[in-house]
Amino acid sequence: MKASLYHYKTLRESPSEAELTSHKLMIRANMIKPLASGIYSWLPLGNKVLKKVEKIIREEMDSNGCLEVLMPMVQPKDLWEETGRSEEYGPELLGFKDRSDRNFYLGPTHEEVITDIARKDITSPKDLPIIFYQIQTKFRDEIRPRFGVMRAREFLMKDAYSFDLDESSMKENYEKMKSAYIKIFNRLDLDYRIVKADSGSIGGNTSEEFHVLANSGEDLLAFSNESDFACNVELIDEEDVNKIPGMPSPDGKGTLSVKRGIEVGHIFQLGDKYSKSLNLKVQSNNSMSFLQMGCYGIGVSRIVAASIEQNHDDNGIIFPKELAPFDITLILINKMKSNSVNQKAEFLYENLSELGSEILLDDRDCSPGIKFSDADLIGCPYQIVISEKALEKNCYELVNRSDLSKKELTEEELFAFFS
Ligand code: ATP
Ligand code: MG
Repeated sequence: MKASLYHYKTLRESPSEAELTSHKLMIRANMIKPLASGIYSWLPLGNKVLKKVEKIIREEMDSNGCLEVLMPMVQPKDLWEETGRSEEYGPELLGFKDRSDRNFYLGPTHEEVITDIARKDITSPKDLPIIFYQIQTKFRDEIRPRFGVMRAREFLMKDAYSFDLDESSMKENYEKMKSAYIKIFNRLDLDYRIVKADSGSIGGNTSEEFHVLANSGEDLLAFSNESDFACNVELIDEEDVNKIPGMPSPDGKGTLSVKRGIEVGHIFQLGDKYSKSLNLKVQSNNSMSFLQMGCYGIGVSRIVAASIEQNHDDNGIIFPKELAPFDITLILINKMKSNSVNQKAEFLYENLSELGSEILLDDRDCSPGIKFSDADLIGCPYQIVISEKALEKNCYELVNRSDLSKKELTEEELFAFFS
């Protein structure tokens, strides 16, 4: 992509209400644009990153045998009355009437809709087990939308729902989904912990949360330095929390540390909560049994912010390779408008693209200083600088964004490095 044809417009300032580094950087990099409280547009650069998160999630869901669907965002209130959640869910549920006075909600989650589909389509044990998933916009009228897309009112979620004949196969599906989540969060290059959780208004029994470790996290976690033991201590009073660091882990392996976490995923064993209220059952062994369900969420848009919380420095974002909008920012320094520099840039752009790198060629008509600081801000893993000075020496400067280390490479070395 050539910057002159792209929407490469960074901002000097971030809004004064932006408290979180990721929020400030996403605004300054022009990844997102606020529209109203907790409601954001995703601009080309941000959307590219969002799509990379989606791609990883889709690949792992598909290879886990989950089937992708797309359910409506607008849901009839009647369906929510059947499960009792119309009352139970609370003020986060935003409703409205259509022209014929029928009531609807903007979907904050999709248990009701998927269970309604299942009661119409799943008629025999032969239809089981089955897992549906979607990547869809959710709306929750959060009391305090803040931190940009981290806690928004409109946000993107991957939600999946499993259906099984009995509890033991529901638990098998739950474990399979947990393994898929581990693969997803590893590929996203996040430092995270899996934490036993309280199931809240979604209902059901066992549930676990995936938390990205970050000082800005809204939850407080205690975890072992030697095993995968972790628990949420957000509700414990401060004095007791202060006693935790250094305590032996309850599983006998290692000692405990306390850190803050950002919830990026949540998996639940729902049991028959929704199948009972919506009458989802099949006949097996001469009796009717309610299906056993699980549900599995990932905060797709929140992950972009969480990754930036974990990967940045004073100059800007440091995207991991899997999430970076481009692999390389190719910085063209052409004060004299020299043809040879232009030609070299075109040559590198075409040939490195052919080797499989995604490149943003900064051919904008602006100062080198702006190009350097913008490249640092948007955080692609590598920068290549082409200037007259470099061409005279017949070499290029390669900058590694993660530590800003620089080295001079010949053309041959550069191609070897990126192939
Ligand atoms: P939280 O405790 O952060 O409010 P939740 O437990 O209500 O989240 P779930 O119902 O478990 O959320 O939804 C699945 C995932 O969707 C969460 O793990 C989180 O990553 C994401 N998510 C939830 N609420 C928001 C929001 N307001 N903005 C962005 N992402 C969200
Ligand atoms: Mg949750």
